[in-house]
Amino acid sequence: KSGFIALVGRPNVGKSTLLNKMIGEKIAIMSPKAQTTRNKIQGIYTTNEGQMVFMDTPGIHKPHNSLGDYMVKTAMSALRESDMVWLLVNADQERGVGDDFIINRLKESNTPVYLIINKVDLIDRAEVLNQIADYNAQMDFAEIFPISALTGEGVPELLRFTMDHM
Ligand code: GDP
Ligand code: MG
Repeated sequence: KSGFIALVGRPNVGKSTLLNKMIGEKIAIMSPKAQTTRNKIQGIYTTNEGQMVFMDTPGIHKPHNSLGDYMVKTAMSALRESDMVWLLVNADQERGVGDDFIINRLKESNTPVYLIINKVDLIDRAEVLNQIADYNAQMDFAEIFPISALTGEGVPELLRFTMDHM
């Protein structure tokens, strides 16, 4: 089995932290700056059942100029080449315009999207349920996973489910 997975989400949602947690090495460069990486393979998670190839797509945000516009187009082409999208959002923040911009782009593609509500270590169970309900009303996600990339909570379930659906 193998699958290409596009990791999307606005800066600082924890994409690099999740990659590091899954793959166990510092393969993704952690940076507070947006746009330090273009679309490229960030890591490969391999088990005896198969492999997941992760691509970072840092360009999906509201473009302010023609370079930004180009980056959105590049990121969208990466989406078309992916088998699935993992959309990461911050559990400890309300859904914002940055998240909505990405969600609207994802609705334009046919790739299945898993919503990953990250940083659940920072909020309580009731708030997690509120976040799930709020995002669920925005689009049809193939699946929703509350996780903490930092502590690893929920990550084995996410990997298990993804492997089973490749
Ligand atoms: P990226 O820009 O999406 O790649 O985000 P990073 O992986 O660089 O993470 C941004 C910040 O969020 C860093 O300070 C991380 O330590 C923090 N972070 C990431 N995941 C979690 C999490 O599950 N819980 C908490 N509390 N912090 C997290
Ligand atoms: Mg990063």
